Amino acid sequence: MRRTAVRRRAGRVAPKRASSPGVAATTRAEIVAIAQRMSSSGLSPGKSGNVSARIDGGMLITPTGLPYAEMRPADIVEMRLDGRVVPGQRVASSEWCVHLAIYKAREDVRAIVHTHSLNATALSCLHRGIPAFHYMVAEAGGDEIACAPYATYGTEELARYTVKALGLRRACLLANHGVVAAAGTLRKAYEMAAAVETLAAQYARALQLGRPKLLTAREMARVIEKFKTYGKQPEVKK
Ligand SMILES: [Zn+2]
Repeated sequence: MRRTAVRRRAGRVAPKRASSPGVAATTRAEIVAIAQRMSSSGLSPGKSGNVSARIDGGMLITPTGLPYAEMRPADIVEMRLDGRVVPGQRVASSEWCVHLAIYKAREDVRAIVHTHSLNATALSCLHRGIPAFHYMVAEAGGDEIACAPYATYGTEELARYTVKALGLRRACLLANHGVVAAAGTLRKAYEMAAAVETLAAQYARALQLGRPKLLTAREMARVIEKFKTYGKQPEVKK
């Protein structure tokens, strides 16, 4: 036992992981699948964007600088909630600070997708969020999708701004940068990021035609209420 402890200190024995290996392995594969979908669908160009999921006591996140098509489950980086990286892994995405800050601030968030999608990023360059121009904005959990102020990528400052702009919602824009979507599952976080891009494209088009008429706070509250039961089928007795 003593020998194991010595060898562990010397870094020859893998440190004990807080998450169950089976769960972490499945999550790693899911992260790769979502990251590759984000890339191949054109939602985030080139090597931009990143994907993470919460695990017990930390998170799993895509590595920096690796083409998505070449990414494998073993390339996904495990980090503890205090920012420590489990040794012997790749370097985490430069945006790990943003992901970690969201997991710390929001117990309900279990997955995050960050993209540089075209139309949402264009709006973010005007430091402009997406107001209630369409009722589907409520899908993000509020009557707007806010835009966080600009801060250099990879900084604590950007992480702070993002947490604030996100609030209790599921998405926000980052000025001169892109989109953050947060949800209970990787699939839902991806779908949220894709929905933000669609809304951004519609809003940008509407702005080209004139000044979009916004829905009232009261109407958006009504839509948010309706969304709680939207798409749910009643149970059918067999
Ligand atoms: Zn980014």
